[in-house]
Order: sequence, then structure tokens, then C-alpha cells
Amino acid sequence: MKGHLKSDSEQIDYLLDIIKRQGTEYLNNITDRPTSIDHTFIPELQSLPETGYGTEKALQIFNEKFEPIMVGSGGPRYWGFVTGGATPASIVGDWLATIYDQNTQTVSGQGDISANIEIETIQLLLKLLQLPESFLGGFVSGATMSNFTCLAVGRQWLGKEQGRDIAKEGVSGTVKILTATPHSSSIKSLSLLGLGSDNIVKIKTEEGNREAINIKDLEEHILRLTGEPFILISSGGTVNTVDFDDFKAISELKKKYNFWWHIDAAFGGFAACSDSYKYLVEGWEYADSITVDCHKWLNVPYESAVFLIKEQHKILQVETFQNSNAPYLGDPLDNFSYLNFLPENSRRLKALPAWFSIMAYGRKGYQEIVDKNISWAKQFGELIENSNDFKLLAPVRLNTVCFTLKDGVKEDEVGRFLEKLNDTGKVFMTPTFYNQHNGIRAAFVNWMTSEKDVQLAFDLMNEIITEIK
Ligand SMILES: *Cc1c(COP(=O)(O)O)cnc(C)c1O
Repeated sequence: MKGHLKSDSEQIDYLLDIIKRQGTEYLNNITDRPTSIDHTFIPELQSLPETGYGTEKALQIFNEKFEPIMVGSGGPRYWGFVTGGATPASIVGDWLATIYDQNTQTVSGQGDISANIEIETIQLLLKLLQLPESFLGGFVSGATMSNFTCLAVGRQWLGKEQGRDIAKEGVSGTVKILTATPHSSSIKSLSLLGLGSDNIVKIKTEEGNREAINIKDLEEHILRLTGEPFILISSGGTVNTVDFDDFKAISELKKKYNFWWHIDAAFGGFAACSDSYKYLVEGWEYADSITVDCHKWLNVPYESAVFLIKEQHKILQVETFQNSNAPYLGDPLDNFSYLNFLPENSRRLKALPAWFSIMAYGRKGYQEIVDKNISWAKQFGELIENSNDFKLLAPVRLNTVCFTLKDGVKEDEVGRFLEKLNDTGKVFMTPTFYNQHNGIRAAFVNWMTSEKDVQLAFDLMNEIITEIK
């Protein structure tokens, strides 16, 4: 070992120290960090260095070139998409995941057994979400991959019901997928799985500005299938209006009919942490599979989400994900290893940030984060409802506000308004289209957000609308 690698390894203490200082500086000022930058700016590509620069010089190049374009997406006023921040404990866990650099797969056998930490984290998460231990869970990179994993096992279940082993034989024939307001990532998963996104049968939504599945229409469609097995994708929080399918009613249907029930509860699942809102997920424990995103409301760094699949489907899960022709890995049902239960083989210790954050703040800590975010959404919603220039496109059901400009301002001005608002760099929201209207979404999931952030954003909105009119 020589050159920069040698000198870097000798001064790792110093290198980590300067990064710690830089990181602390960033985090302490994240509230003032712009939430957007000039999006027309494209940095020039670097050429491959011959002998390298060493870490300190590489950091200097990064700081000149990229650091200024890092936006405050983990800060309190980044309300676009559904963007969580990172709690201090989760940052600690994330750094340690890198430092220990385990390849998280097995719980027994020789070598790395970091999967025990993952299993413990899943147990903690099940308790936090008040779900039974009958789910086998694991970490993947995001809710998209979680939907993919859950639906892959649903696909295997469906094949088995028809006397086929889809994992071995491949997909043939069509498969019925019933759903009302699926997230785009579920549709993408259907494409990836060869199930075909066109095989979705759209069920009506409940009447009166709702996105939740219409139970009566669902049952009528089920009856029309005359016993043919199908997959139901239901929503535990739609992205536009955070509407929830009626899980209690669906669990009743599940007693009567034969289907795989998947719930995408990427962020809405955290309603379980709130005494006032946990009724929204009542009955979700009867689902076959559930998607929960951790890099949203759990406030851990990207990339972190879990799949929760009923333990009783373990064999189907192994059939789907078995890394079969590696004899040294043993029997997948005897020697538990994550590589036989999910898409990836080698993987980082993704659970550690979540483990740290749940251990550091506990049930009460998350209850407070969730309840506070809901209260900011309600407050922001009220300000909008009582204003002359804005109106809600749907009631504020949980933590997201979906709104638009009031009559008198043309619809195409919504985009212009939002661009000007985001250009201030003080708040960030994202455009949407809901109920035939161009709209704007503000999603509250960050632990740092406070009442003054809500007021600051609303004041800015009023300034900008006055300029536009
Ligand atoms: C965010 C989200 C997803 C996709 O999650 P990623 O973490 O971006 O992969 C899926 N479903 C719902 C309901 C979401 O809110």
C-alpha cells in the first residue's frame, strides 16, 4: 500500500474529524439552506485522475463543485414529494453502517451475523406500528422495491393457486390485479414482474372527493371473477389526499374470497403511531403483505424501507427469491439468510439507522413526530381554507395538503406560481393533478418542522400571489 491510500489510512482520524465538522456545520444550518437551486446549472464532468488526489483534496474539489448545490432536502421546509429528514440517531446509525460495512444476510452460520440486528429492528418496527409478530420483514432500498418484493410473492401465490410455479415457469396467461388508486411504483412493479400494468382492473373510489376503494364495487368485481384468484393492491395513504382504503371491510372480504392482499402504506402506515389517527389502519394486520417506507416518516436517511410479508407465506417467498444454485449457502428454510427472501444478494446493514432512531426516541418520540406533522398539515390547511387566493382540493386527512389557486387566477398559473415559490429557496412543494385540477402538494413528514415554518411558507405564498395577480 502506498501513495494516497497509505497516507489517507494513516490520517483517518483527521479525515473523519474534518468531515464531522463539515457535517455539523451543515446540519446546524440546514434551516437556512436553500430548498432549491438554479436547476439550469449542469456541472462539468471530471476526468479520471491518474494517481488520485487523496481524500482531503477530493473533498476540496467536492466542496467547490457540488457542496453549493446540495439543497436542504432534509430540512424543515422541504415539503415536496414525501421527503423525510434524518434524526440525529439515524445519522449515527448510518455512519456506523458504513464503518462496520457488514454484508447483511445470515443469522446463523459462520461469518457475519448482522442480520440479527435487522431482525431485531423489524421486531421493534412491528411494535411501533402495532402490528403482530406474524410478519417476516426485511429492509430494501425504498417503497418501490418493497412493493416489488411483496407483489413478487403475491405473484407466486397466485400461480400456486392455479397450479403453476411462476418463479420456475415464468409468467403465462393473464393475472387480475384489482386496485383503486395505486401508487405509480406499484404499476412499475407490475411491469417489472411481467404481470403487465395493463392487467389492472380499476375499481371505483368511494363517493365524494375520495380516493379510497369503493367496497361495493370491489365486491361486485370479485364476484365476476367467479373464484379466480387475484391480487388486491390497496392504499394506506394515497399521495394526493392521503386517503385510506377501508381495511376492516377488506379483511371481511378476505374471509369470503381468495386473494392476495397487499397494502402500500409507505408513509400512511405511521398513522399507527398516533392515538388519534391509528383508526385509519385498523384491520391492516390481516393483509398478506405491507409496504412501509422508513426514509419518509421514520426520518432515517435514504435508502430505507421494509417489506412485511406474513410468515405463513415463507415458502412462497423462498421460491420467489431463492438464490438456488449456491450449495454453500445451505437449505434456505433451515439457515435463514436474507438473500433467499428479497431481491438483493449482497447488501449493507440497512437496518442500523432505523434501529438507532427507534432505540433513541422510542414510541413516544415517534408519536410526537407524527402528531406534530399532522398538526402542521391541519394548520396549513386552515390557512389555505381561510385565504382569498388559495383553496383546498381535498380535505386534509393526515399530513398532506393538496391545494390550488382560487378562481380568478387561471389554472395554468398554478405552475408559474409554484415555480416562483420554489425559486425563493425557502420552501419546496411539488405539482400534482387531482380531480381535473392542476394542484400543489405539501407533505409534512420532517421531524424538524415547526409552526413558524408553516407561517413563513404561507406568508411567502401571499407575497407571490400578489405579484402574479
Ligand atoms: C413514496 C411512495 C412510494 C415509493 O417509495 P420510494 O421510497 O420512493 O421507492 C410508494 N408508495 C407510496 C404510497 C409512496 O408514498
